Amino acid sequence: MHLTENFVRFLDRLLSRTRFLVASVVLLGLLLVGTSISSWQSRQQELAVTQAHGRATEFLNAANGVEIATLQMIRGERGYLLTGELEYLQPYDEGRRDLISDMSRLSSLIASEHGSAVGVSELKRHTSSYIEVLDHVVALARKGQRNAALEVLDSDRERAAILDIRSHLLELTSTEQRDLDALRTQWSDRLAMQRVFFYIVSVVGFLLVVLASLSMVVLRRVAERERAYLAELRRLAETDELTGLANRRELISALKRSLADAERTNRDLGFALIDIDHFKRVNDTYGHPAGDRVIRAVAEAAMTCVRAGDLVGRIGGEEFAIVLPGAGVAQSYAVCERVREKIDSLLIRLEDGTKITITVSVGLARRFDGDSVETIIERADAALYRAKHGGRDQVRLAA
Ligand code: GH3
Ligand code: MG
Ligand code: MG
Repeated sequence: MHLTENFVRFLDRLLSRTRFLVASVVLLGLLLVGTSISSWQSRQQELAVTQAHGRATEFLNAANGVEIATLQMIRGERGYLLTGELEYLQPYDEGRRDLISDMSRLSSLIASEHGSAVGVSELKRHTSSYIEVLDHVVALARKGQRNAALEVLDSDRERAAILDIRSHLLELTSTEQRDLDALRTQWSDRLAMQRVFFYIVSVVGFLLVVLASLSMVVLRRVAERERAYLAELRRLAETDELTGLANRRELISALKRSLADAERTNRDLGFALIDIDHFKRVNDTYGHPAGDRVIRAVAEAAMTCVRAGDLVGRIGGEEFAIVLPGAGVAQSYAVCERVREKIDSLLIRLEDGTKITITVSVGLARRFDGDSVETIIERADAALYRAKHGGRDQVRLAA
């Protein structure tokens, strides 16, 4: 169980590396190149084996031809000698011709071979002397010297020559057959090895394709996780932890954007600063957690009073701001009044069950041409100051 977990973790780490994906693809490419080269080599070898096989078969055929021609010659010679009929000389002549041509075929076939070359030249020597003896006997018979011819027969020269030829042929053909068998075995061994190699390559290739696909899936998952993580980071950087409203930085940059938009489209914009009245007292009387609860209640209340497109933010301890794009003075003022009244009417229930009420003061500024973030905040702040000094729990419009 522990082992499987570790393995899965290892696999996950491995697959989430782009380097692994690249390596898999490169390895797959190399495998493909390797199998192509191996196939090509195999094809070359197959051609060579086919060629050698053809040559060996031809060699064996020619050797067979030599034996048949030898027998045909002696049959013709004996026939002629026994009967004196000239028609026996026809197979004799044919056998003689075949013997010479088969011998030259044999010689040409061993032209590039080393081992058989000696054997064939030996055989050539024996066939030459065989032809010589038989020609001599036929010539004697033609001249009517039958007894002289029979004497040669008795001398066993023909028998010795034919036995020499046969033993040499046997030696040559068995060597050739052995070489051919060895070639076949070598070839089938190689085929078997190649089959194993192809199996291995297929399995490895398949595994690599599977791993590369998995790696792509994992990489996509990692990228998605990173995107989500970045989005969460951005959200955290833009929001106020206590209230979930836009924080100071986000509110200022939204104000900047809204001001630029309003300036470009020549539209109104309202900006309000809201400060809880005598908030220190809440903290001092009920404690800091109670203060936090009040801040959250104010944030929720303010949110219910604005439209989509307006932005409420917490810009300091118990100070809030509202950006009201497209809102003229009357409309902005109405929103601020709504917020103030709503908060006034809140009965905030503290943890110990105590219910308290609070009020807020609001400073409102409208946009003027050429306004910057600083100038509009400054005017709203001045209006807020006047609201505080005017007795709190009220909205003041900046000059
Ligand atoms: P005023 O009516 O003039 O605004 O009086 P005030 O008591 O609200 O005065 P001031 O604005 O100076 O006081 C702000 C207080 O808010 C001071 C600080 O202790 C408190 N405060 C600031 N941030 C937090 C916070 O996150 N939680 C709590 N509970 N208190 C905070
Ligand atoms: Mg304050
Ligand atoms: Mg205050």
